[in-house]
Amino acid sequence: MRIDITRFRLSPLPAVGISRLARYPKNVGRCTADPKATTMPRRRKIYEGKAKVLFEGPEPGTLVQHFKDDATAFNNEKHGIITGKGVLNNRISEYLMMRLAEAGVPTHFVRRLNMREQLVREVEIIPVEVVVRNIAAGSICKRFGLEEGSVLPRSIVEYYYKSDDLGDPLISEEHITAFGWAAPPEIDDMLSLSLRINDFLLGLFLGVGLRLVDFKLEYGRLYEDDQMRVVLADEITPDGCRLWDIETNEKMDKDRFRRDLGGVAEAYQEVARRLGITPEASQQDVKGPVLIQ
Ligand code: UDP
Repeated sequence: MRIDITRFRLSPLPAVGISRLARYPKNVGRCTADPKATTMPRRRKIYEGKAKVLFEGPEPGTLVQHFKDDATAFNNEKHGIITGKGVLNNRISEYLMMRLAEAGVPTHFVRRLNMREQLVREVEIIPVEVVVRNIAAGSICKRFGLEEGSVLPRSIVEYYYKSDDLGDPLISEEHITAFGWAAPPEIDDMLSLSLRINDFLLGLFLGVGLRLVDFKLEYGRLYEDDQMRVVLADEITPDGCRLWDIETNEKMDKDRFRRDLGGVAEAYQEVARRLGITPEASQQDVKGPVLIQ
């Protein structure tokens, strides 16, 4: 009997190895509660962030990344729920991570498990947010008095220290090495990968009528057989990108939430539609586990 663990949707089974899962009788873990409730399987939570939860994965060295509908802005001062955002972000990030992997960018992504979750490799997150900017928007406008929408002389890469308490301050390579957040070769990897990712995503989004204004990336250390490499981690979604329509300059990203422009989920849905990855009907999110014979 072959069991496809990707089909264990909303199963409250504990996080155990595939071989132990196989011993559970068919009905264990079937969702009996309100089918509309966005329940999560009972398993060990590793970390809960603003828009995602990380759970222990089915095998050592893996994690399950669960996308929530929560949205925050201005360092948590603003909070809201955007129904369906988690489902869309799961699909968008899956698609972009897969395209990037095809282009030779190492990532933590393994595969999507269900509507809200994806299986990822466990990495040690480097506490540095890498922002790549092509067009002036957001904090760079305030910092340098630039007009929103002005094209930057070239793509600019910035580093921020990942700390909610400090409000993610802008940092230099000097801070990164002096405080030991990453070693010089790791910074080199993050910089060159970020520029490659920018080139690739600029073209990909341009192809679907979207301008990639700026975006944030996170990297992690992946340990394999005494080797360590820096890989792209976290997510790439409209939560962490600015995407403007080529024709109208309409914002298709989290700025719609930050600035109370409305139509946030619709904008994310449109990004998914243009990428050709409109999610399956949400009913699939509430099915119990399915055993494949
Ligand atoms: N960004 C992010 N998380 C953060 C800060 C920024 O994903 O904690 C993204 C943001 O969505 C934008 C880019 O990084 O696409 C640059 O953001 P900026 O520095 O302009 O800050 P903001 O104006 O979003 O506060």
